[in-house]
Amino acid sequence: MTMEDILNKARDVAAGAERKTTELVGKTKIKMEISSIQKQLAAVFEGIGRLEFDAASSGEDITALKAEAFETVRELQKELEKQYDRWYDMNGAVRCGACDAVNEGDAAFCKKCGKTL
Ligand SMILES: [Zn+2]
Repeated sequence: MTMEDILNKARDVAAGAERKTTELVGKTKIKMEISSIQKQLAAVFEGIGRLEFDAASSGEDITALKAEAFETVRELQKELEKQYDRWYDMNGAVRCGACDAVNEGDAAFCKKCGKTL
């Protein structure tokens, strides 16, 4: 699989998760979504490593391809964050009054800003 393939597939996952968000209600589906995004993230990170290695050997300029890969990582991370929020919301999550971060239901302090919940 080339880097282009990896990026295209990862982008499909990010976009697909977005599209399906309204249809998805089941916890199992959210878990599958999270797992799928995590796998794509791992694939993109691995691809970046391989890309760097190959470029070091061939001397090819991969600046543009790397920028593209980093952008895909950010998209996937954003989508992952969204799915985690949905997951926590379904499991009695508490939103922080100060920064609006989603925390687990039994958390005493906000994981993001440290305020008492
Ligand atoms: Zn907070």
